[in-house]
Amino acid sequence: MVEMYFDGDLDLIQDKTIAVIGFGNQGRAWATILRDYRLQVIVGNIRDSAYEEAIRAGFEVYSISEAAKKADIIALLIPDEVAPKVFYGEIEPYTRDKKHYVLVFASGYNVAYGFIEPPQNADTVMVAPRMIGAGILDLHKQGRGYPVLLGVARNVSGNAWGYARAIAKGIGAIGRPGGVAIESSFDEEALVDLLTEQTWSPLLIAAFIAYFEVVTEEFGVSPEVVILELYASGELAEVAKHMAELGLFEQLKLHSRTSQYGHLTRLKRYLTEDLKNKIRQAAKEIKSGEFAKEWALEQLIGLPTFKRLYRELAESRLAVVEKELYRVLGRR
Ligand code: NDP
Repeated sequence: MVEMYFDGDLDLIQDKTIAVIGFGNQGRAWATILRDYRLQVIVGNIRDSAYEEAIRAGFEVYSISEAAKKADIIALLIPDEVAPKVFYGEIEPYTRDKKHYVLVFASGYNVAYGFIEPPQNADTVMVAPRMIGAGILDLHKQGRGYPVLLGVARNVSGNAWGYARAIAKGIGAIGRPGGVAIESSFDEEALVDLLTEQTWSPLLIAAFIAYFEVVTEEFGVSPEVVILELYASGELAEVAKHMAELGLFEQLKLHSRTSQYGHLTRLKRYLTEDLKNKIRQAAKEIKSGEFAKEWALEQLIGLPTFKRLYRELAESRLAVVEKELYRVLGRR
């Protein structure tokens, strides 16, 4: 079985200055919890509303390069697509003379695809939460942990795994009930993260669209009923919660017998070699770096495909009905 850790040693990072770069979804949560553990946290951010918010929250806030200069541990918590430019413009030139520091990523993407080269003088580690920032803060309030994937891309000190575990503890992931840190790698994290975004998650949306089109166009069902049935009621979120708590198949037992029978007998219609082939193809595109290259190019030319596809979805009948329904329900 894969190596799992349930605790880390905060003594390793007790006397270190930790710079949280980017006070966003993850950064806000990390900085708050590290400070609650009485660790020395500073924030580095561009001069924007998040900068002001970090000051209001009582943090010492600096420009990114200033924070990088002061830090022994640098957590890069900015969007993956801007991280290489920020790292090479505002962090690397100010840290290259340090004897040693720890560079922490919250995802494997940039190192896995070679957009950021682990520096010669930095233990380069990944502490990648399987949880959104708001969820991390909620769990912190309840004294509960959450899963993280750990990775090491450069081990200068010989203790990079120890630092990764210490950070995982410092951000409330382990050392608490419900928490676990799993030994993984930058490559593995990037693969599973992107594969989720490119396979089952869009597949779910595709199934919703197909269902919507078939029953509204061919079976006379009202579109509002379909939207509530599919996702707007919140039932889906409840089912997902039970999947996490009880397991994928155990949660089925909470459904009616009729529902269970429908699931069990129809499942194999969808679990086909064709579906596996599509997942295989997506995994190959991710693993080879083809997707990362495609996405980098799309950003370079101003996101034309990204914008066109969003426009197409916004103009679809489902989106139009949804907008009106949500207005009537007072959600927008
Ligand atoms: P956010 O989108 O919340 O952005 C974080 C911060 O980066 C914000 O303060 C943002 O400023 C700042 N920022 C944006 N653009 C720039 C720029 N060009 N230069 C400098 N700063 C910039 O990021 P996340 O917290 O979502 O993601 C951070 C890392 O965490 C990523 O590696 C991501 O993959 C990982 N991660 C994210 C999860 C999530 O739940 N979102 C879950 C697990 C991992 P502003 O507010 O002004 O835009």
